[in-house]
Amino acid sequence: AAPVHVVGGGLAGSEAAWQLTRAGVPVVLHEMRPQRGTAAHQTEQLAELVCSNSFRSDDHTANAVGVLHEEMRRCDSIIMAAADSHQVPAGSALAVDRVGFSAAVQERLEAEPLITIERGEIAGLPPKDWDSVIVATGPLTSDPLAEAIRELTGADSLAFFDAIAPIVHAESIDFDTAWFQSRYDKPGPGGSGADYVNCPMDEEQYTAFVQALLDGDKMDFKEWEENTPYFEGCMPIEIMASRGPETLRFGPMKPVGLTDPRTGRRPHAVVQLRQDNALGTLFNIVGFQTKLRYGEQTRIFRMIPGLQNAEFARLGGLHRNTFIHSPSLLDGTLRLKADPRLRFAGQITGVEGYVESSAIGLMAGRFAAAERLGRAPDMPPATTAFGALIGHITGGANAETFQPMNVNFGLFPPPEEQITANGKRRKLKGTDRRKALAVRALADLDTWLGRPAVAAE
Ligand code: FAD
Repeated sequence: AAPVHVVGGGLAGSEAAWQLTRAGVPVVLHEMRPQRGTAAHQTEQLAELVCSNSFRSDDHTANAVGVLHEEMRRCDSIIMAAADSHQVPAGSALAVDRVGFSAAVQERLEAEPLITIERGEIAGLPPKDWDSVIVATGPLTSDPLAEAIRELTGADSLAFFDAIAPIVHAESIDFDTAWFQSRYDKPGPGGSGADYVNCPMDEEQYTAFVQALLDGDKMDFKEWEENTPYFEGCMPIEIMASRGPETLRFGPMKPVGLTDPRTGRRPHAVVQLRQDNALGTLFNIVGFQTKLRYGEQTRIFRMIPGLQNAEFARLGGLHRNTFIHSPSLLDGTLRLKADPRLRFAGQITGVEGYVESSAIGLMAGRFAAAERLGRAPDMPPATTAFGALIGHITGGANAETFQPMNVNFGLFPPPEEQITANGKRRKLKGTDRRKALAVRALADLDTWLGRPAVAAE
């Protein structure tokens, strides 16, 4: 068979290349380092970890990223094999010796006869005679390629920053305080007039909240982030707050058109949350992108009435991150609708994190292999972590507010209701819910892979 070209030898590209060879498909893997570097990579190794050495929780019984680890292992992942063999002690997390890890990935790929590694930048759209390409150039995609992707997909379809508003698990919102209502009860497209969750503040609460934003400990901008332009619409909430005590009350926290059902009055200020996924399990805090440190966000955002017990699916942020608007641009097998010979993988598709990027590389490799071999693509079940991630980037996410996301149980279809001994229906919550989702994911993965089910230990 003709080779599939994989552009980018990072986490996703290395995994995609490996999966292609598992199916017997030859690969040319293009990596621009060391000829051209990025602002974060330090070495010329494939699959370099640019920051932390942690793959996060390895608990596959009750943690979504742990489930994703396990699903990848069961699919013969090169990234997970290298991580497992270069593990360093880190409690229940999987952390690795970064040098040994990357060296192991590179050695294995170099030793694989079906892979040719070419060092050099792909400085624009891949040549027309490459009929199957996986673009896995990551959050720091080189400028000429990013510019070419932007031209092909449209100016609004490629972001250079992720301006992330915190995302809350719906089940952790206190609806004795918060209520559903759209401003002036206006139904949006497809909405009911009660689409937003509203959290009210009186004057005293508002003043204290603004002060907490101003005093909170913030992360610094990196030099290369300072030099990348960002839009007014992405301004961090604490910077807006610093422009004057009333700025937020006339901006994202404006109370007009909203009535607190408990008092029958308009509150002094309102924090609004908008549904973030089709399942309705996640809500983002509208306009609350921030450079506050993570611990500070949890503390300060729990000052919001109704969010005092909020559990966050992801915290807010603002980083240099090149990613495409996957929900509108990609088909279900990660191909660009406008040019289906190009498939995308890794962080550039709008997932977040080492493990998630590698997992999307794994999927892209399998889809490209099936295509090359003339087979129908084998879609992972929606109930698996793979399916949840693919669903998020190609369909489930709110297309308007699409932002990169770590894997989390809010992306999984809810578990079946339990029938109790006295015949009542009961929704699973907390740890029981997470365990049920983990067991279901791995059982459905095994059925999909056609292997005998393995009980989770
Ligand atoms: P990468 O691993 O970056 O791989 C992309 C590869 O493509 C690179 O090797 C690059 O050199 C190459 N490339 C780029 N353009 C071209 C081109 N035109 N031609 C040829 N090759 C090209 N995630 C975490 O889980 N934990 C963290 O601590 C963490 N820290 C991060 C810190 C920073 C500064 C950044 C930017 C991201 C961080 N991430 C982190 C997010 C993300 O998980 C990593 O960036 C991850 O490496 C993404 O995997 P990837 O394969 O998509 O991209």
